[in-house]
Amino acid sequence: MTPDDQDRQEDNETSCIFCRIVAGELPAEVVHRSDHTLAFRDINPAAPVHVLVVPRQHVENAAALGAEHAEVVTAMLAAAREVAEAEGIGLPDRGYRLVFNVGPDALNSVPHLHLHVIGGRAMTWPPG
Ligand code: AMP
Repeated sequence: MTPDDQDRQEDNETSCIFCRIVAGELPAEVVHRSDHTLAFRDINPAAPVHVLVVPRQHVENAAALGAEHAEVVTAMLAAAREVAEAEGIGLPDRGYRLVFNVGPDALNSVPHLHLHVIGGRAMTWPPG
């Protein structure tokens, strides 16, 4: 990490709400932890199960991902599957939706990468 990267990381740790949840400075209902990720219940759930899987490292959004994040992204997808199984919505019987919102048209509101794990009810398509 360059000194600039380190400064940016320190800024994020004080201002980004998901960095602050990862640091234990803000409360959250944590349901899963791994070396690279933390998963907690969405404060405004869109379905009976609505969990956010976030990387411990600050990444702005899915459009900022590169090859250097391969391990983090794999860990996020593994965490999402484990959360779904623990919540009783895993395969083969149930199922769930995984969502990355990117940018204003997608109503992305928190600028720290997060994977929505949504399930526990039948969904419709296309999404609104
Ligand atoms: P997005 O629209 O993809 O940026 O989604 C951000 C999500 O974060 C929304 O579903 C919010 O309800 C959720 N959220 C915002 N603040 C918190 C918080 N402090 N704890 C849990 N979920 C949160």
